[in-house]
Formats: sequence, C-alpha cells, structure tokens
Amino acid sequence: SAGVGGDGMPDRPDQDVRLRPRRMDEMVGQRDVIERLKIAIDAAQRRGEPLGHILFDGPPGLGKTTFATVIPVEMETTVQMANGAGLKAPKDLLPYLTNVSEGSVLFIDEIHRIPKSVEEYLYTAMEDYRIDIVLGDGVNARTLNYEIKPFTLIGATTRAGMLSAPLRDRFQIREHLGWYSQQDLCQIVQLNSKKLGLDVDPQSEKIVASRSRSTPRLANNRLLWVRDYAQSKAEGKVDAGLTTAALDMIGIDPLGLDRQDRNYLETLIRVFVGGPAGLEAIAHTMNVSSDTLEDEVEPFLLRSELIVRTRRGRIATAKAFEHLKLAPPEATG
Ligand code: ATP
Repeated sequence: SAGVGGDGMPDRPDQDVRLRPRRMDEMVGQRDVIERLKIAIDAAQRRGEPLGHILFDGPPGLGKTTFATVIPVEMETTVQMANGAGLKAPKDLLPYLTNVSEGSVLFIDEIHRIPKSVEEYLYTAMEDYRIDIVLGDGVNARTLNYEIKPFTLIGATTRAGMLSAPLRDRFQIREHLGWYSQQDLCQIVQLNSKKLGLDVDPQSEKIVASRSRSTPRLANNRLLWVRDYAQSKAEGKVDAGLTTAALDMIGIDPLGLDRQDRNYLETLIRVFVGGPAGLEAIAHTMNVSSDTLEDEVEPFLLRSELIVRTRRGRIATAKAFEHLKLAPPEATG
C-alpha cells in the first residue's frame, strides 16, 4: 500500500514495482505457502476450474500484494486490483464484478475495511457467481439477478481477526504470511542489488537485512536509500561503513527500529513511566492513529520483546529501557 513508510520516508511505488518478483519462483522464503499454492493452482488447472478464493493475512510488507500479482501469472490470467477502503457500497464493487473474465483474479487489499453491505454482496458473488443489480429507483426499482463469470477472489488483510466468520469461511485457502529470516532477507537484498545494478558487498547486505525488521518491503526501502547515499557520497560503491552511516542518517538503528518505533518506546517510558498504558493514550500522545501503531509499530516491538501487552495496557520491558539507554523505574515494594 502507498503512503509514508514507518521510517518517515515516502514509499517509492515506482521502485517497488521494479523490485517486485514477477513469478512465484522469483519469490524468496514463504516456502510452505508457495508449495501449497502451487498444488492448489495445479489442481485447479487440471480440473479446468478457477482457483478457490484465497485470503492472505499478516503484517504489512511481507508479500500479500506480491502473491496477488504472481498467482494470476501462474494461472495465465488477468488481475483487477481494488482496495477495501474504496469499496463503500455494493455499487463500488459492480465495475469489478461485471468485468471479471472466466478464471480471472479480483484482488481486494485491506479487505477488513469493507462495510457489512459490501461484504454481504460478495457472498453470492463468491459462492454462486451471481450478483443482484438494482435497476431504476423508488417504486420503479427492480432487481436483476445477474450471472458473472467464475473468478478467484484474493483478499489481503493485516487484521484477520477483524473479518467476520461468514466472510472468512468463504475463502477456501487461507494463508498467514510470517516474518522473513535473516537469510531470506539477505537473499532479497542481494537479488535486488543486482536488479538495481548496485555493487554491494556481503557485509553490507547483512547490515541492511538485519536493520529491516524481517520485512522485505523495508529491506527494499533501506537498500534504495543506501543506493542514493552511495551514489552521492561514494560514486556508487557500497561497503559496511557506508551502509551503517547511510542508515544511521535516517534514524534506522541496529535493531532496525526507526524514529517512530523509538518515539513509541520513549513515550511509553517517559510519559507513562514504562506503563501499563492504553493504546489510545499512547496514540493520542504521539499524535498518530492507534491503527497505525497496532498494525505497523507494535508487532515488531512485541516480537523484539521491547514491549508486552497486558490486560491493563502496554508495558516497556527492561530490554526497551536498555536499548534507549534509559534507567528503568526503581522497583517498588
Ligand atoms: P501491504 O499489505 O502493506 O500492501 P504487502 O504484504 O502486500 O504489503 P508487498 O507489497 O507484496 O507487501 O511487498 C513489498 C515488497 O517487498 C515487494 O514489492 C517486493 O519487492 C518485496 N517482497 C515481498 N515479498 C517478497 C518475497 N517473498 N520475495 C522477494 N521480494 C518480496
């Protein structure tokens, strides 16, 4: 999705498209997901049927959109891209649904954002490949039940828990995308350096990978910045010293935290004395939306054991105090 990346630098969609794998075999990691999808694709092709509907969930930047673009390539079909935030009423779905061709893919990113009315409209489309179209209005309105071509819906969400059970159950294939290993990220950095025609030594690949929070999109963004920095400061040659200096300059620390992540920890520690503090309170203090914090900031802080979530709120761990070089509050009692 577009917007400003967690590191405060604008995403670069043009570059993103260039670095995005075009075929499933070019994808790194997620081996078990890829194996299962290949079997499902193969079986669907043998039966001459459209692939079952697929739901991807997981934190941003782990490859949901990439899967939605490579699957249609494997199926030798076309894809239409939509975003749940733009589907406010059933009529917003109509152009897509009436446009599907036999076996083609409709991708809905952020599918948890569609309202109930749109969700219900999708049910019969997904299940029976039929939709109701209302013609005219008022007393003259009549409903036409219209047949559409059998298609595959691919939904993506950062919040599987927010989908209603009836919608979730209509996806035959559900895959969770997890974090990437250091090794996978190194491989992505290496492949993408080649695509960019950039001369990067193995040590620098490791530094970029280890500061990318197990997330391919961040590895790409960091690499693009290192490239800019190298081109302007070192005639394009990338070594460990340069890579570290480049990433330090934009506030990416050795754990891979960016300014916003550290700002979160500092708020929790300084303003709320380490917590427990409620998500909304932290979000208000930082002046960012609680959704952003919950989707984009907290997952990595939780995974890094820098914060814990309790029923009373978020708490900074000893590791967080240490990382920010702040003294933990004195133990009481
Ligand atoms: P969002 O939900 O925020 O849109 P996403 O999960 O859809 O995020 P993508 O846009 O698919 O994430 O991935 C971001 C970028 O990371 C891609 O453009 C691609 O370059 C890279 N990437 C993602 N997954 C892989 C992978 N498995 N192998 C290689 N590169 C990958």
